[in-house]
Amino acid sequence: MTEQHEVIVVGAGPAGSATAYFLAIQGIDVLLVDKSDFPRDKTCGDGLTPRALHILDQMGLLDDLKATTQVAEMLRFFAPNGNQVETSVPTTRGLPAYGLVVPRLILDVAMQQRAVQAGAKFQGQSAVVDFVQEVDGSVNLRVRHAGRVRELRARGMVIATGAAMKLMQTVGLLPARPSLMVAARAYYENVADIDRQLEFYFGHISLPGYGWMFPTSPTTANVGMGYLGRVHPSPRVGFERLVANHPRLRQILAGADMIGPIRSYPLRVDFHRVPKVRPGVVAVGEAIGLVNPLTGEGIDYALESGQIAAEVIGEVLSSGLSWTPATLRKYVRRVNGRFHKLFVLMTWARRLYFNRPVLNRIYGRNFGNKGALETLISVSFGNASPALAFSPRVIWEIIRPTRGFQGSR
Ligand SMILES: Cc1cc2nc3c(=O)[nH]c(=O)nc-3n(C[C@H](O)[C@H](O)[C@H](O)COP(=O)(O)OP(=O)(O)OC[C@H]3O[C@@H](n4cnc5c(N)ncnc54)[C@H](O)[C@@H]3O)c2cc1C
Repeated sequence: MTEQHEVIVVGAGPAGSATAYFLAIQGIDVLLVDKSDFPRDKTCGDGLTPRALHILDQMGLLDDLKATTQVAEMLRFFAPNGNQVETSVPTTRGLPAYGLVVPRLILDVAMQQRAVQAGAKFQGQSAVVDFVQEVDGSVNLRVRHAGRVRELRARGMVIATGAAMKLMQTVGLLPARPSLMVAARAYYENVADIDRQLEFYFGHISLPGYGWMFPTSPTTANVGMGYLGRVHPSPRVGFERLVANHPRLRQILAGADMIGPIRSYPLRVDFHRVPKVRPGVVAVGEAIGLVNPLTGEGIDYALESGQIAAEVIGEVLSSGLSWTPATLRKYVRRVNGRFHKLFVLMTWARRLYFNRPVLNRIYGRNFGNKGALETLISVSFGNASPALAFSPRVIWEIIRPTRGFQGSR
């Protein structure tokens, strides 16, 4: 007998587990499958923005995560010319005024277990390798598990496979030339002088790109770098150069030890070009390119798209309708409505801001108006309208002549 469910969610990262959780709390029979066994790691910077924390709060996870992982209340930016500026995480009504650093080894299993507590079933070590849609509209999945291929059947499938593109290609939802960025990270222990701040480095790295140090405890950190452009050198080489040459990283890592290898992974950033649904299928999270093109942050958008998908699927199922492009149109409208303009403007902001003179200006001593800096940070966190990155007040702060302006070096 083929095992049957109302919905099968493929991929138990933030997008898949959020979808499964928000489906399960509606009483929907949902199976969450992942090719890995859990807990499992995922190459990431582990930084959670206030907007991501807002969804984790709705899932009932925030209090526990806040009590057991690293809270970050301050942000420190290092300009290409060495200047640095420190500010607090911007406050926005309805959102926490802090970020968290939660290693994915901890975050993803917490989310997957929360979906199971809410009523979802879970199967690990199950890679979905093929998909067929039946004449009655239901879907048949071929799943490789413990060396055997077996079939699972459902009214519809949610694809939440992140930057792994095989299944998206199989179902015909991958653009001909997907746009990718790359990033690399490593964990360190015995790191000096890290407090409760996230650090961002814009020097000693090819632009557009940046490095980071996100503390995972008072003495351990996730250190990494990402290239935000389409053309980029090897992320591993970029990582090694950054760590070897950036004065601040050299200082805090002087007595530190790397734990485990440097790992790199691609990021999909083609949200505006990706079809999001097809008959029997809805795709969420990074599988539809939902990664912020200005920062490389994707966890928040994975969670939010999962929540929207679950709401729309709940409406389709309760109306007794099949999963057709027409019944799923509301999902496409809602994700486009929330993210399209945001991501287009973030792409423009990346083009405008990621060059040495402008970065030196924004994070330099002469960017006198702290309000403008906070606006830019709020925009990059997705907390404020991205149009504000192009407001006359911010643009004037960048272009106004000042004594001692630190241009490119
Ligand atoms: C180095 C690096 C640093 C980053 N730093 C940050 C950061 O600090 N903050 C942030 O918000 N974002 C960050 N990101 C982006 C973030 O990691 C992703 O955007 C996010 O994980 C996307 O979530 P997702 O659920 O869509 O996909 P994923 O988290 O990638 O989950 C996909 C899941 O699908 C499973 N899967 C894949 N194919 C199949 C299949 N055929 N069958 C079954 N299961 C399958 C995988 O095993 C995986 O568990 C970073 C990315 C990189 C590479």
